[in-house]
Amino acid sequence: MLTVPSPVVELSDDRLRGIRLLLKRDDLIHPDIPGNKWRKLAGNLAAAAEQGSRTLLTFGGAYSNHIAATAAAGWHFGFDTVGVIRGEQHLPLNPVLARAVEHGMRLTYLDRTRYRAKHDPALLAELTAEFGPFYLLPEGGSNALAAEGCARLAAELVEQVSDVDVVCCPVGTGATLAGIAGGLGTNRRAVGISVLKGGGFLADDVEALQRSTFGHATTNWLVADEFHFGGYARRTPELDTYIDDFATRHGLVLDWVYVAKMMYGLFTMIADGRIPAGSTVVAVITGRCEDLARPQSDLLG
Ligand SMILES: *Cc1c(COP(=O)(O)O)cnc(C)c1O
Repeated sequence: MLTVPSPVVELSDDRLRGIRLLLKRDDLIHPDIPGNKWRKLAGNLAAAAEQGSRTLLTFGGAYSNHIAATAAAGWHFGFDTVGVIRGEQHLPLNPVLARAVEHGMRLTYLDRTRYRAKHDPALLAELTAEFGPFYLLPEGGSNALAAEGCARLAAELVEQVSDVDVVCCPVGTGATLAGIAGGLGTNRRAVGISVLKGGGFLADDVEALQRSTFGHATTNWLVADEFHFGGYARRTPELDTYIDDFATRHGLVLDWVYVAKMMYGLFTMIADGRIPAGSTVVAVITGRCEDLARPQSDLLG
């Protein structure tokens, strides 16, 4: 049911300036639990089961991929799920929340002020009174077990592409980058492209996640924060043109919230020499993209 290890495909493109670029197709892991959402949930599902928890409760915005993936994971792996959604209820439900409900998720809503208190024990006690005991997944699912899952992704990748020099991924909370960098070892670098505006705090978050996951922070990563296109879930005509152009050249329609911003940032850093010629670079396709056609012969396994 899960496509792990996820396949690696090489991209040929005349803009690569002597760089070998491969795509790690984590988006193909599972149709409902793609990419880094599966990597981040796997260890948490095991921990929840070990603790005898039957219910997963988590937090997110109304369009959160993490909410959708948690609902699907509960459905497929036998957990009840509760989604605590930021803001007011809007009916009819948007497609993300409607699908979550189809996957059995119960939804509850918190206004923005109360949502900000999501770590408050009093709020968690109220949620326990309403929904019964639960295994708590933080917003975005980003905890040490999540980063560990992403470190395993890095280990899997090194098995597939032993000469990889640089791994590139998008950054939301930073757990994916923290885990990948930690799992790569010191001779390889990780480059994260922030999809948030004003994400200067992200480096601190990545460091903190690495310390809680590995006991120390590593120095083999950076966050580039000039490729957010106006901020989270914002898009511009330039980004849309890039997505169309990439689809024409490679047959892959990039997810615009995360993956397209990463790819744009990566190609910019290749063009301006920040990624040195001669490098082998792997871009992690962390979430759902649409294949226009995928010849199986492209798959390196
Ligand atoms: C959630 C998500 C991310 C962000 O991952 P973080 O670990 O929060 O940085 C990146 N890409 C996709 C496709 C996502 O859905």
